[in-house]
Amino acid sequence: MELLLYHFCPDTLNLYGDRGNIICLRKRCEWRGITVRVEEIKNPDEVRGSGCDIFMIGGGSDREQAIATNRLAPLVKEIKAWVEDGVSALTVCGGYQFLGEYYETKNGEKLEGMGILPFYTKADEDRLMTNILVESETFGKVVGFENHGGMTYHDFPTLGKVINGFGNNEESGEEGLHYHNLIGTYLHGPILPKNPKIADYLIEKAYERKTGRKLEPLEDELEKLANQTVWNKFLTSKRTKY
Ligand code: GLN
Repeated sequence: MELLLYHFCPDTLNLYGDRGNIICLRKRCEWRGITVRVEEIKNPDEVRGSGCDIFMIGGGSDREQAIATNRLAPLVKEIKAWVEDGVSALTVCGGYQFLGEYYETKNGEKLEGMGILPFYTKADEDRLMTNILVESETFGKVVGFENHGGMTYHDFPTLGKVINGFGNNEESGEEGLHYHNLIGTYLHGPILPKNPKIADYLIEKAYERKTGRKLEPLEDELEKLANQTVWNKFLTSKRTKY
């Protein structure tokens, strides 16, 4: 049993160890006897065949996001179709913003996004840079680290409520986006090793879609301990912006 994972733009969108999410997905699959074939997609012609089971896009600076958008523009229709069809996807920070319609910089310059989903991001004077805790109905306690100037606005379901930190923007108190099996999030860290429920959600949706079978749970003693430790540590700390 093999799952195909496309890692988009690993050369430009690769902040804060986002690649660790792939190592985590791969390992959790390996423990269950599932192989993950990772293909790095830097140019549209590297996408062959009818699609993938999971895709991942990491974070990057405004400049790198613009480069990635231009490069992957020919894949918009395909990526949209995968999302609608329930392909599992994890998109982090710049990679999350990049799915929307545009990103307006601090100087008022509008950088076009991929336009996969109808939302937008606008940069503010402040940079939201802090450890973040999110209470999620689907995933329980979610922990991570955020560092972004862009504030994202949308009407989609979110990952959950921000308990400490900022999330999508300074007003909503909500973090991320959850649409079909796509997760957009500001959480770097990387997010998956300390949030195994999110990792398994992505794997399970891909596995079920392909085989019709449920995923076997793992013990996750260490992962749960890491999640709880970070949660306790930052629950009372002050959120900071720069
Ligand atoms: N360029 C974006 C911002 O600063 C994304 C940064 C990131 O991916 N960490 O808002």
